[in-house]
Amino acid sequence: MIIELKASATKADASFIMGQYSTLSPTLVPVRSGQRQLIVFPSSVKSSATDLHTLDSVDRVVDCSADFQLSSKEWKSEFSSVQIADGIKFGPGNTVLMAGPCSVETRDQTMKTAEYLVTEFGMKVFRAGAFKPRTSPYSFQGLGEEGLRLLDEVRSEFGVKIISEVKDISHFDSVAEYSDIIQVGTKAMYNPALLHKCGRVSKPILLKRGFMSTIKEFLQAADFIMLQGNMEVILCERGLRNFEPLTRFSLDICGAAAMRELSHLPIVLDPSHSMGYRYGVPVVMQAAAGFGCDGILVETHPEPDASWSDADQALHFDQLKETIPVVREILTAVGRTLI
Ligand code: PEP
Ligand code: MN
Repeated sequence: MIIELKASATKADASFIMGQYSTLSPTLVPVRSGQRQLIVFPSSVKSSATDLHTLDSVDRVVDCSADFQLSSKEWKSEFSSVQIADGIKFGPGNTVLMAGPCSVETRDQTMKTAEYLVTEFGMKVFRAGAFKPRTSPYSFQGLGEEGLRLLDEVRSEFGVKIISEVKDISHFDSVAEYSDIIQVGTKAMYNPALLHKCGRVSKPILLKRGFMSTIKEFLQAADFIMLQGNMEVILCERGLRNFEPLTRFSLDICGAAAMRELSHLPIVLDPSHSMGYRYGVPVVMQAAAGFGCDGILVETHPEPDASWSDADQALHFDQLKETIPVVREILTAVGRTLI
């Protein structure tokens, strides 16, 4: 159950409710500028068991059957938009392209990639990781702070926004400082301390679905963030573990349709990590466009085979050059513009 207090409600009104109903385990959501005060009870608590709707300070009482209340359409029936800057909005009508290498490797590699994407496609959001959550402890783990500084140079040089990932809380503040969107990777989706941190910053969070997570678990992870006051969460479907060696993961486009049915949050699709092999990524980008997602995340590199991480899936620039116009056309057909 979610209680939305009136704009005129005071802190004392919220404290009164928290005290009066403490046995029902309420959580007071920290307020951000422009937001109303929210008090969230477990989904098992129903308004019929309380007289909250009679209180003067209360505007709305919403019973939620789903246990991912804040990300659910039961709470918010309209799709949410997440605005990064003027003209860069994830949400109805828009699909934001976020392309770049898997990792920041060198200044030359990063600058070359950004320059190509910006001059060729007018791309607005550059992706690259500096703290890489690798499966093997023997592979490249990212440039760390140095990588973030290179991303800062990319931002100043090309006027793009930056999305970069956090793998744990040890470097959270640095990534938050240098990124315009903070990415939480598939393996970090279950990290409660990290989700808590994400909830306390004023930056949008791109939350990747765990590769073995149910949709309910995924949306509950989103709620962990939102319950801390940050409502700017973007969901990212990046593929589920499968039995098939010819694809790295399976992009769960059916699951994405279920997310769109259940949740108001924007949905990004990631053809690169799901397909895993560059020959298949362009056609999965087309499928993502046909789905009408709110963003597409894709990896590319000036010399894909020489990539320090995820080399098999990095696209050649020429592949992007062929695919982006098709993606644009498909998006137009489903009522969206590529940003
Ligand atoms: C990435 O985006 O480079 C990445 C590591 O993604 P994921 O967490 O989905 O594997
Ligand atoms: Mn990658």
